[in-house]
Formats: sequence, C-alpha cells, structure tokens
Amino acid sequence: MSSDTFSVLNQFRNADLVKAGIAEIHRITTHHWAIMEICGGQTHAILRSGLDELLPEKIELVHGPGCPVCVTPLEMIDKALAIATQPGVIFTTFGDMMRVPGSDRDLFSIKAAGGQVRIVYSPLDAVRIAAENPEKQVVFFAIGFETTAPVNAMSVLQARSMGLKNFSLLVSQVCVPPAMQAILSAPQNRVQGFLAAGHVCAVMGYWEYPEIADKYCIPVVVTGFEPLDLVEGILMTVRQLEEGRHEVENAYRRVVSEIGNLPAQKMIKTVFEPCDRGWRGIGEIPMSGLGLRKEFEAFNAEKRFMIDSIQTKESEICIAGQILQGIKKPVDCPAFGTLCNPDHPLGATMVSSEGTCAAYLRYGRTRTGVMEQK
Ligand code: SF4
Repeated sequence: MSSDTFSVLNQFRNADLVKAGIAEIHRITTHHWAIMEICGGQTHAILRSGLDELLPEKIELVHGPGCPVCVTPLEMIDKALAIATQPGVIFTTFGDMMRVPGSDRDLFSIKAAGGQVRIVYSPLDAVRIAAENPEKQVVFFAIGFETTAPVNAMSVLQARSMGLKNFSLLVSQVCVPPAMQAILSAPQNRVQGFLAAGHVCAVMGYWEYPEIADKYCIPVVVTGFEPLDLVEGILMTVRQLEEGRHEVENAYRRVVSEIGNLPAQKMIKTVFEPCDRGWRGIGEIPMSGLGLRKEFEAFNAEKRFMIDSIQTKESEICIAGQILQGIKKPVDCPAFGTLCNPDHPLGATMVSSEGTCAAYLRYGRTRTGVMEQK
C-alpha cells in the first residue's frame, strides 16, 4: 500500500474529525431517532470503533439485513450441500460459506470427507476450473447483493463464450431496495432513517432511492465504512430528521455517483432478471432477488441437478428475523451467547462473522454490558 493510499485511509479514521462529528450530532439531537445501517460491514465497523457508544442516547442504531451469508436461506444451503455430494461435481464457493451450517452439516464437512468442494476468490476461477475439468460438473454458489451480481453475471457470459457445458450457478442473489421497502411496510417498523450501503451504491448508484424516500418520508444517506464516513452519514441523517426533511444524500462521494457503474448494471441486466426471493430469518420478499434469464437457463444449477424439494426448519428460539428488520437487538434473544454462539449458530445473524449477533458477541455488546472481546 503506498503512503498516499495509507494517508487517505487514515484521514477517514482521524479521531479528532470523528469527535467533532459526534459533538455536532450531540448538539443537534432533540428527539429519539432509530437509524438503520443496512450493511453488515457497517454494523461491524460501528461496533468495532465504538461509535454506537459515543452517540447521544436518543440516537439508536438498528442493524439491517445486509449480510449476504446471513440472509441466504437454509433451504439454499441444503441445496448446495445436496449438489456438492453428487458424484462428478466440483462445488466452488467463497470461503465464508464453508462453515455455514445446513440442516445437518456444512460444506467444510463434505470437503473433509473427501468431497470436491473448492474455495475460490472469484466465479471466474470456477469458470477456469470448469475449462480444466471437462469431465466434471462445476457449480459456483452465487450468493450476495448487487455487489457480487456483476462478476457472477460475467462468469456466465464467459462460460457461454467458451462453449462450456459443465459450468452452472446456484443462484441466491438478493437486492437491497425491495428489502428496505419490506422493512418500512411492516406494521411494527421502527426505522426512521437509513444509512444506505456504500458498496452496493458504488455499483447501482442511488437513483432507486428517491422513490423510497418520498413514499415512506424517510431520509436515506449513502454511507461508507470508515469511522468518519459513518459519523458523516449519521450526522446527515440526524440533520434531516431534526429538520423534518426526507431526501437522498450522498456521504460517500469519493466512491459513489448517482448513476453508479453503468457497465456493471448492464452486465447484471443481461444475465439476470428480478424474481421473488426468500431471505433467511425474514421470509420471501417479492421481486427482491435476481434469477437467471430464460436464455441462460442452461447455467442454472437448480435446473441441472433437479434437487428434490427440501424441507427446512429454523430454530424456534431465534429472533434473527426481527433483528434483521431493526425490531429487536441480539441481547433480546434468550439464546444469545449461550445456546447460540459462532461455533454453534442457531440462526441467520450468528452464522457469519458479518452477522449482527456475531458482532454483538465479538465486540462485547452483551446483556451485562461487560466488554468481552472474543
Ligand atoms: S443469538 Fe442466535 S438464536 Fe438468537 S437471534 Fe441471534 S442468531 Fe438467532
């Protein structure tokens, strides 16, 4: 990393600037406001840097559904496991899906038992593996938000241009705006302002958000991931709330433009189309996912492997769905840190290190308030 890059990054961790922003939030806050950061990466950055503990008591941060591993349905994990155990299959995935438990095991245990499960850093690696192993079926587990969709789409286009007949995607892609609308439409909604996820907006821009801001009278501020980015996002949201405004603003201008990355959006549209999608812990949200278009059906692993319908059952204790919608916090769950922990997760928000329950445990936001670094 060059010293220039380092100094730019350090600027966004500058303690004096962060303190000045926090002081301004204290100065202008007169009401209780519940603000949701959508992305799990933002949740971790907030807890890791202790920003939640520096804000006025009246500013409550609630944590959204933006952890891709957490919201991948259990049923889809079980489908991945069923495909990965078939003979002649090489199942490829990002590393963070390896330990996510399905109903009775995880991908790691299949690999340990001799199964062909490989960690890749890009779906394009999976395309290369397919080209090198024409006698095998190579499947990539395509999960995530609009951030992963372009390269997943690119892998399909590349496989097609190479004439590969042994490459497919197990698709569980989700999109942020429909989830925001589902949260705001719920009768028990508490969210009054959104910090929109900066990396999703780097791809998609923020042209989709004014309609949501108008319809639900809610401020939406595009926000980055460093402490100063987060303080600026929170400050701009609180300022709007205190002034009775509901606009879309951009606190991540060094990365995000309103229109976003048009070639990436075109790539997504070429290969995928909107579809209904289940979110673990929340349930199905209409038109909240991306599925392969009909002309790319040959690359659909669910069709290729004809997995029988899979019945799954989530823990009855788990309140992850309410946590992902900002209605409850991890400390409200009776299993938090006891029956449910990162080694034995019972629900969506503990399965990934990016999940809210995992973050609360890691950074000591426990019932007793004792700082217990794991
Ligand atoms: S602590 Fe575990 S059981 Fe409780 S809500 Fe979180 S994931 Fe679910």
